[in-house]
Amino acid sequence: MAKIGVLALQGDFAEHIAVLHRLATDCREVRLPGHLEGLDGLIIPGGESTTIARLLDVYDIREPLKRKVREGMSVWGTCAGMILLARKLVEDRPQPMELMDIEVQRNAYGRQVDSFEADIPIAALGVAPFHCIFIRAPKIKHLGPGVEVLGKLTEGGVVAIQQGKLLATAFHPELTEDTRFHEYFLSIVAGQSHDPYPGPD
Ligand code: GLN
Repeated sequence: MAKIGVLALQGDFAEHIAVLHRLATDCREVRLPGHLEGLDGLIIPGGESTTIARLLDVYDIREPLKRKVREGMSVWGTCAGMILLARKLVEDRPQPMELMDIEVQRNAYGRQVDSFEADIPIAALGVAPFHCIFIRAPKIKHLGPGVEVLGKLTEGGVVAIQQGKLLATAFHPELTEDTRFHEYFLSIVAGQSHDPYPGPD
């Protein structure tokens, strides 16, 4: 059975762990480089990306984490986690890990709508739309050619993406009862995720 870690430096890691327990997944909290040992997948939760980035460096886990990804570990970043996976941020801080070919702007929805919810169709999860909770969410400003779009807001903003074994969502599936996104991540870890754009060969 796949072993999944949840980066537990700051943010809502406990909510992700709770969903993984509901899915009877073998999972553990990750705080130190040694906790990455033997993991097949890692979730980077929502929270405060500047704090998580600082703690990545304090605990010397940034480089070991990037090495594990190069060796094939899957990663899913939610909200602050997506910010940390980016190649580039609009802002100077924090220093992202440059693992996904996206440019991201933090807190990009402005004060009025800094938190909102939307039901978004995500073909990779099946027919029923997914209830997406956005909390001071980041916006994807630029997508590289190898990045697949899994979900968009009706006005067109991309909010869920996949690049090979890497997944990122601007919203928080761990705050809903719907476990489909976690199951989708587990299928990526197992190498069984289907092409989100099934089309002619
Ligand atoms: N605004 C936060 C940041 O910049 C992200 C918010 C979240 O993870 N819900 O890190």
